[in-house]
Amino acid sequence: MTEKKPIVVKCPSCGADVIWSEVSPNRPFCSEQCKNKDFIAWANEKQRISGDSNYDDVLSDDLENN
Ligand SMILES: [Zn+2]
Repeated sequence: MTEKKPIVVKCPSCGADVIWSEVSPNRPFCSEQCKNKDFIAWANEKQRISGDSNYDDVLSDDLENN
């Protein structure tokens, strides 16, 4: 007799338990909110890397002037 146990994963964004099945359409995230949050963080990270030198220049100028 084998009972099907639900697979539960942790939401990568907030760490909440997420049941890995069709009841969680946003898996591995617990909600659409967490899914969007993670995507925004990823997009920001990508943007930061591509514009890294400009960002650093602005930042160090600011530090030197203060
Ligand atoms: Zn979450």
